[in-house]
Amino acid sequence: MEFIEIKNCYKIYKNGVTALADGNLTISKGEFVFLIGPTASGKSTLLKLLYREEKPNKGEVHVGNIDISKLRNSKVYKLRRKIGIVFQDFKLLPKLTVYENVAYPLESYGMRSKEIKDFVLKALERVGLKDKYRSYPHELSGGEQQRVCIARAIVNEPKLIICDEPTGNLDPDTSKEIMDVLVKINEELGTTIVMATHDKEIVNRLKKRVITIKNGVIVSDKKKGKYDNEADKNI
Ligand code: ADP
Ligand code: MG
Repeated sequence: MEFIEIKNCYKIYKNGVTALADGNLTISKGEFVFLIGPTASGKSTLLKLLYREEKPNKGEVHVGNIDISKLRNSKVYKLRRKIGIVFQDFKLLPKLTVYENVAYPLESYGMRSKEIKDFVLKALERVGLKDKYRSYPHELSGGEQQRVCIARAIVNEPKLIICDEPTGNLDPDTSKEIMDVLVKINEELGTTIVMATHDKEIVNRLKKRVITIKNGVIVSDKKKGKYDNEADKNI
């Protein structure tokens, strides 16, 4: 079985919207995958199925050999420990320092503070922000804040990172910086990355696998894909 397998999956929200219709997808360990498509096509929903923010109405969602669609709510925290998540809006805690924001996920594990320090500094070094560990989020640029989020997502060394439009609020140069960090993590640590994006420049420059979703239907899946302009049109 592959690292991620979505099989015959349907997500129909209570209001009747079908956000995923008969979705089928496999992703191997270590892949870097872009998920593209117009607004409201179902990108975030597909990602939510992978970190069990949503359950499918039908079908299976396997992540690392477990069918997470059948996972009990009381076990979801165990899955989340294995996944790093990065959003468009940074979701940093404003009253905590950079160090404390990154340490936050580890504190619930009952880890000793010496060990936490090693993990946090390693993660901050990887995103190039070790010297800002005492700063507060409001003292950082948008790109730096997003790098803190990436550090927080990788601090427990997950096998999977899910990014939902991580460059959506950033200018092109800063977006490029963020992508360089993500590509480096993928290449050096072998972390699987699944990223929803609207950013044509990024997708075309990096030539990774590109999956296109429209109206809840996966319409194409290309190995070294490009952002084709048709991808933005809902049919
Ligand atoms: P995207 O990320 O591509 O913009 P989404 O996955 O957020 O798309 O949304 C897909 C469709 O599902 C949209 O029509 C959206 O309005 C609908 N949708 C998303 N979340 C919910 C929800 N919690 N309840 C009802 N409808 C939703
Ligand atoms: Mg979205």
